[in-house]
Amino acid sequence: MAGIGLILLSSLTGCEWDAWALGLQGKASRASLPPCIDDDCNCGDFRDQASAQQVLDAFSKDPYELDRDANGQACEGLPDSAPSLDPTIEPSQSVHLSLGNPSNASVNNLNNFLIERRQYALSYHRERGIPNWVSWRLNADWLGDVERQDDFRWDEDLPEGFHQVEPEDYAGSGYDRGHLVPSGDRTADVEDNSATFLMTNIIPQTPENNRGPWRDLEDYARDLLEQPNQELSIIAGAYGDRGQIGGGNVTVPSRLWKVIVVLDQASVDGMGNINTTTQVIAVDMPNRRILKQDWRSYQTSIDRIELATGYDLLASLPAQVQTVIEAKESNH
Ligand code: MN
Ligand code: MN
Repeated sequence: MAGIGLILLSSLTGCEWDAWALGLQGKASRASLPPCIDDDCNCGDFRDQASAQQVLDAFSKDPYELDRDANGQACEGLPDSAPSLDPTIEPSQSVHLSLGNPSNASVNNLNNFLIERRQYALSYHRERGIPNWVSWRLNADWLGDVERQDDFRWDEDLPEGFHQVEPEDYAGSGYDRGHLVPSGDRTADVEDNSATFLMTNIIPQTPENNRGPWRDLEDYARDLLEQPNQELSIIAGAYGDRGQIGGGNVTVPSRLWKVIVVLDQASVDGMGNINTTTQVIAVDMPNRRILKQDWRSYQTSIDRIELATGYDLLASLPAQVQTVIEAKESNH
């Protein structure tokens, strides 16, 4: 009997083992649940009560303490359901959005507000005072030897009526001014590097995350470009809520995610010859002080990031390609 148990256990990965040990039950599978179940879900990680309830119901116990009053209802402080995605807008000409605009960001929604620059494109959330996501291409042309400009400043591209988040709003908060597009990805000229220091590209990030697994993944991505003819399409974002800083004007996100698609730079249409075998890296990690050091341990699937955020990533790709590469568990 012991032998059978050992064979069963050895076929499970570390994360599956955790979920199994915590009592994942019934029809629920890890692949159909948000990435936070792989480390520690909190009510602030969920978009709405319905998705928190799904996690509560998937386990035989309440391993994440989502139902502290034990009335069977998870995270009752959350809205019942999150708003649906904004209507589709005209496709952008920006190369940084050629794989899609995952939240249909536009100038019509101030909390899903589209800003397109030469260096990257982003969706900004006025009430949270941080970007929802930032998307950018990366190839050797963007890399040079320009020094880090460190000129954090508010973003003049935000229209009137937006509270301007200042670099000082982060002072004394205990959080780093964390870049979504890293300074190190825009070093070909001073203006490009400086653009990464606009506060619309910045989130409050724990130092342990920013200078730990998050930075290691940034380095790993740049190292991929040492292979000939490679180009990356990168999108990174922040969701969830673990409080506010800056006098309440800046929300601290509880989770950070990133998707890196490895493109063939030589492709004629600029889309990188993406097909069902295209390599993708997908991570979703907690914005906490105590976390695992290896970014690889936070790998997940694009499907699960879509589940947690409500976005449609890689929306410009054919549906059958999305279906395959989004379901794959990132494994680098
Ligand atoms: Mn950083
Ligand atoms: Mn998708």
